[in-house]
Amino acid sequence: MASQSTSESLVARIAYLSSDVVVSVTPSLDTPSGYAPTLRALASDKVQGVIGLETPQIHTVRHNADPLLSALAPARSGKLTTITTTSPTLLPSIPHLYKLAQYPVVIHVSLTPSTYPDYQDITSIRQSGLILLQSETPQESQDIAAAAHALAIKSGKAVLHFFVSREGSAQGDERELLQNVLDVSAARSHQLRTTDSTSLYADDGVRAQTTRVLAQEPQAVEATIPAGTAPATTAATQHSTTATSSATPTSQDSQKDTISSLSSTDSTVIKRAVTSDDILAATNTIFQTIQSVTGRKYDIFEYTGPANAEAVIVSFGSSTAAFRNVLSQTQYGELEKVGLLSLRLYRPWYGTKVSEYIPKSVTKVAVLEQIKRKTTKWGPLFIDLVTVLRSEPSIKGPRTVVGYQLAYVDQASAKEALGTVVRNLRAATPEQNLIVGQSEAPLDEQQYEVSQPKVEAAYTKILAQLFGDKIHIANALDKAQAGVPTETSARPEFGYGALLARLEARENFIKQAEYLAKTSKVLPGTAEAILKWILVAEDSSKSAEAAKEVEQALESDGSAAAKELLGQKEYLKKESQWLVGSDAWSYDLGNSGVHHVLASGKNVNMLIIDSTPYSEHAKQDAARRKKDVGLYAMNYGNAYVASVAVYSSYTQVLHALIEAEKFDGPSVVLAYLPYHGESDSPLAILQETKKAVDIGYWPLYRWNPYGAENGEDNFHLDSERIKNELKEFLKRDNHLTALVRRNPVFAANVDKSYGTEVRDQQKRAAKDAYTRLLEGVSGPPLTILFASDGSNAEGLAKRLERRAKARGLKAITLSMEDYPIEDLASEENVVFFTATAGQGEFPQNGRAFWEHLKDSTDIDLQGVNFSVFALGDSLYWPRKEDKIYYNKPGKDLNKRLNELSGNEFVPLGLGDDQDPDGYQTGYAEWEPKLWTAMGVDKVEGLADEPPPITNEDIKIASNFLRGTIKEGLADESTGALGADDCQLTKFHGTYMQDDRDLREERKAQGLEPAYSFMIRCRLAGGVATPRQWLQMDDISSAFGNETMKLTTRQTFQFHGVIKRNLRGAMRAINRALMTTIAACGDVNRNVMCSSLPQNAHVHAQVQECAARIDTHLLPSTTAYHEIWLKDEDADKRVLVAGNAVQDFEPLYGPTYLPRKFKITIAIPPHNDTDVYAHDIGLIAIVENNELKGFNMLVGGGMGVTHNNKKTYPRTGSMMGFVSKEDVHIACEKVMLVQRDNGDRKNRKHARLKYTVDDMTIEGFKAEVEKYWGKTFDAPRDFKFDSNVDAFGWQQDERGLWHFTFFIENGRIEDTADFKMRTGLREIAKVHKGEFRLTGNQHLILSNVASKDLEGMKALMKEYGLDNTNFSALRLSSSACVAFPTCGLAMAESERYLPVLISKVEKIIFELGLGKESIVMRMTGCPNGCARPWLAEIGFVGKAFGAYNMYLGGGYHGQRLSKLYRSSIKEEEILEILNTLLRRYVVEREQGEHFGDWTIRAGIVKETRQGKEFHDDVAEEDTEE
Ligand code: SF4
Repeated sequence: MASQSTSESLVARIAYLSSDVVVSVTPSLDTPSGYAPTLRALASDKVQGVIGLETPQIHTVRHNADPLLSALAPARSGKLTTITTTSPTLLPSIPHLYKLAQYPVVIHVSLTPSTYPDYQDITSIRQSGLILLQSETPQESQDIAAAAHALAIKSGKAVLHFFVSREGSAQGDERELLQNVLDVSAARSHQLRTTDSTSLYADDGVRAQTTRVLAQEPQAVEATIPAGTAPATTAATQHSTTATSSATPTSQDSQKDTISSLSSTDSTVIKRAVTSDDILAATNTIFQTIQSVTGRKYDIFEYTGPANAEAVIVSFGSSTAAFRNVLSQTQYGELEKVGLLSLRLYRPWYGTKVSEYIPKSVTKVAVLEQIKRKTTKWGPLFIDLVTVLRSEPSIKGPRTVVGYQLAYVDQASAKEALGTVVRNLRAATPEQNLIVGQSEAPLDEQQYEVSQPKVEAAYTKILAQLFGDKIHIANALDKAQAGVPTETSARPEFGYGALLARLEARENFIKQAEYLAKTSKVLPGTAEAILKWILVAEDSSKSAEAAKEVEQALESDGSAAAKELLGQKEYLKKESQWLVGSDAWSYDLGNSGVHHVLASGKNVNMLIIDSTPYSEHAKQDAARRKKDVGLYAMNYGNAYVASVAVYSSYTQVLHALIEAEKFDGPSVVLAYLPYHGESDSPLAILQETKKAVDIGYWPLYRWNPYGAENGEDNFHLDSERIKNELKEFLKRDNHLTALVRRNPVFAANVDKSYGTEVRDQQKRAAKDAYTRLLEGVSGPPLTILFASDGSNAEGLAKRLERRAKARGLKAITLSMEDYPIEDLASEENVVFFTATAGQGEFPQNGRAFWEHLKDSTDIDLQGVNFSVFALGDSLYWPRKEDKIYYNKPGKDLNKRLNELSGNEFVPLGLGDDQDPDGYQTGYAEWEPKLWTAMGVDKVEGLADEPPPITNEDIKIASNFLRGTIKEGLADESTGALGADDCQLTKFHGTYMQDDRDLREERKAQGLEPAYSFMIRCRLAGGVATPRQWLQMDDISSAFGNETMKLTTRQTFQFHGVIKRNLRGAMRAINRALMTTIAACGDVNRNVMCSSLPQNAHVHAQVQECAARIDTHLLPSTTAYHEIWLKDEDADKRVLVAGNAVQDFEPLYGPTYLPRKFKITIAIPPHNDTDVYAHDIGLIAIVENNELKGFNMLVGGGMGVTHNNKKTYPRTGSMMGFVSKEDVHIACEKVMLVQRDNGDRKNRKHARLKYTVDDMTIEGFKAEVEKYWGKTFDAPRDFKFDSNVDAFGWQQDERGLWHFTFFIENGRIEDTADFKMRTGLREIAKVHKGEFRLTGNQHLILSNVASKDLEGMKALMKEYGLDNTNFSALRLSSSACVAFPTCGLAMAESERYLPVLISKVEKIIFELGLGKESIVMRMTGCPNGCARPWLAEIGFVGKAFGAYNMYLGGGYHGQRLSKLYRSSIKEEEILEILNTLLRRYVVEREQGEHFGDWTIRAGIVKETRQGKEFHDDVAEEDTEE
């Protein structure tokens, strides 16, 4: 069957079907080769090969990453290995070709550029021992590719098949062809043979062999070449005018020998090396088989032309087919009696047989070779042919053999080119080496250039930023190197040579300048400047200034000497010399390159970028695995060495590069940048980096061999963990001992590295200990295993355990991950509880258990009673097709346990969140059945169960928020604090979190989660001084993860603070005159205030109220001071008798509030603090530019629980007006009514919003007035018009300036592209006013005097901070933190919203909505930190990658939104927005906001109050 294709894709199919492994050489990870699409499609369909033992594997390797080396390992391990590549990879691979030649490897080489390739790529490797086969048309490429595989298998030697890729079709079924042509038994013998050696350069000792089978061994399985299969006559004597020859003589030996590299042990089989005759015989057999299957004839040489030809053209180039066409149609004029000979089998060379293929009548032979740059006078083919063709006994005198250089010839010019050849050939004295064809060939559009992947520019950009025009990257791609291909000039070795030359040139320049200055060849002033410069010429900063002076002096000097020096002025500056090595574009990570630099001792810096993703490092071919260049360099002893990762610590990269540059000698900076494809998202790179750094695969460190001489450490470990090899080195260096002594925490981390067996042993020990504990109990055993995401499954499991014990059972409860699964078969009774995670997956702590159970074939549960209780939500995934996810883990587990012959003694129980009592409904039915099944349902006199410990209990027991926090902080064996203490630390402003990007990897490594702490400051009204800004910035570097988050509640938040840094960070925050007390927890939080840059007078008045309320409602406990601030050994006089601490909370009492409590102030018309979303919302009433007081709203709040309709967001209800003098007291009274009336039993119902609804607003107000002893006045008029910030410059009434920066999602950080954090730091150093944090997570530079304005603008411009030119959609967006630090996150938010917005912007810009503000917000869970339900478009995370979408929020935050779609993913989100925004553009009324339109257009129903939030949702009913 013919199909339109290309030669490369036809070859790729053959390669795939004939191999175990295909090494697919690709231009870059983003640009596929011509073979790649076919290979990828076959692999993704898991198509089985014809001969492979398994589905063929595709290994993709970049073209400049020494790709042919990748074939060695699979070839050695007995895999039938194929390489698909292009011709430029051959020359650099010559050392590997010799080695590959001894394996049955096939290399398919597409010659490039396909318009006019250089055949020198082939002739240069003709001595490498490979068999070289050629094809021309796509049909031939398919057939010869099959022949190549057959020949490799048959001969045991590597076959290189080269061709020029053309578009076209091929006949026949390639699978059928391969089944006929491939020798399966020979293939199996290769597949079963492996070579142990893994050395790269030593001889493997492998030689392809043939076996000679003696006659009495009829059972030999190898195919033999029967005697006489090859015709004995030659083609030239038989064929017609245009026929292709088919005759081939065979060797005598081949009549008896079996050709394969089979290594039989049979004593009757004699082995010997494969000879060229063997190969010839095998080739002929294969060609005959192809002919019998397809009807197409092939031969080692192919002749076209008349039998009486006088001249023959031997063509070795891409025009052969064109010549053949011409000659087959034109046998007259000067082309009469002209034939054409082409080579099918180029190596081994059967030159002696050529004469058998051309007519005896031939007296003149033209040899056309397509070699672009000849390095010898005669072409290689000419030399091959001249000796064998010169003399022929049957003709008179010697033949004339003339060599030609074949330039570009296409079909149109082929006839003319042949004419030229023949005329010269027939001339009396033919010209040798005549060039035939055009010198210019059309460009090959498919050809690729070496280019630096965009992602890797992260490092080179930093170099450029740090060293400016001093930087000289010797192998940079933009350096024009005359006559040198980019591929070569990008190599660090090349750059190194160029660098040495440059260093030498500068030394000469200095000498020359000194000579000219001293010999008065320049003016005295110039001489003086030169000599001054020479003194500092090696100091990069000092020489820069001196160089300027020299340059000026030379310019005004005018002498010839001065002009000469000016011509070389580039040497005046002391450059920062760098070489860059990378896997992707300047391949060299080998020690040899580094060795040269180290051995030279020159001041050369190397930046070596390693892009192997952490998750793939284990998969790497051992022969290719990178050596530890850092260790090598450190052992060498004279180099500065650093290991850095820009996605882990930007600051550490800066330190390392600056130190490397300063170091006077060689420096090696190893830079990590893991990516799979060049379009990988920054998030993917970040996650890979974090894993590698955290586990210690890529430790961050800096090493200065001479540090100790300057009183510093030689070694700085900048990350937590370290590799064993490095540890060994440091130990050897006697350095670690010193470190361990100084810093025992470090030592603990070091010693914990790579503890793989630990976890298994822990599991075993824990279970054994528990079993021993139960030995005394007599009842039947019950093992309870749970997999839990939240706490329900775990809670149920533990409760069941208590109840079981009360019934006399020997009960034990473990999470599935802690259970040694090998014990399962010996259990008597097992109960499983599993929650449902994500899209029907097992929760994290049950995954490994399930994977094991699912795949296990040797677990027999006969005799084991089991039951499963599953917890899920039947409406979590609303679409019909997603119903299967409901309780899927529990159902799957139940099924599997039955399959393993377990006895399901109680049927599967299903708990559904949608039932009236949630999962309890199903549980209440299931549990009694268990007791019945176990015979303990009739137990009398069961004791009451103790109620579970609640947050309220923890608070009471905490001794005014102390708990055992202090002891927990001192415990160095874990990075965590105890669970109860974690509840208490919230009151102190810090949450324990763990890095969720690292959870799975750390678990796999047997490590506890990567615990760290989030610290939230308290900053009333969000106003900070420049000094405080700098202090916060310092804290983020010294204790956190080098970033700060400006939160939706106008304060600073730090992430990634590890336990041992926690106290230091708290103290530093307090030194900055801030606190963290009550920044979280069940207390009044930070009080917010509109940032109001345009009215200083009013802002000051309102801000004063915010600060007053904030201070008034602070808790009084001294625990905060005692735990975080007091010196460890300060005197203990604060403690009273019995060490009991006397504390008193006049407002809160010992149990504080039922839940968190939030207050905010907005100043109309700006609702930039979302006044409706807080427990208390104060709307400032300003009359005649004076603050009078506030309208008070109560009962606003955001957090809900998915699918729990008893929870809902709520906007605040109006209480009335309160004067500014009374406002803090009124707030206090509201808080106290909540304290005394809020629900302390159910935390999901404990916020003020529920208290207000439960008491009614009137009832609540009356109660507050009762506590207060005053009444609220009637609310006064106000009007809001927006809740977004106004970006850019504004001037207030005093003439001071304010600039609102756009800080996307409040994250202050530096990246290679945007040094925002550094810029803000520089601004803070000179700023005399203040910073204001906005409720939308942006930042205002406040109170800039006019005289400072220009300076400030320049600084902002320098760092790109003056840019507010973003779409109005982006400017109006905000996202919460979510992954990786927030423990509650179900989906990405801060890291994803910007990506989503970029995609929505495409729609927005197309519709002309770029300047229309639409408020879009996203949170990772329904806790609602970014207040998503007040946005016009809100997204709330449901599962990884899936969000609930809400529409219809009020533009200025006055109205709640409504659920529009559940659990939708990006594709659907974009589709919906595309449709809705298109309608909005057409249907909107003048000035109508998107949120309002969605209601008017009937897209969603209006939500008028919180209680209506779940009513009339737009989601279609998906119930059957
Ligand atoms: S909304 Fe949820 S995911 Fe986002 S920060 Fe708050 S708690 Fe975390």
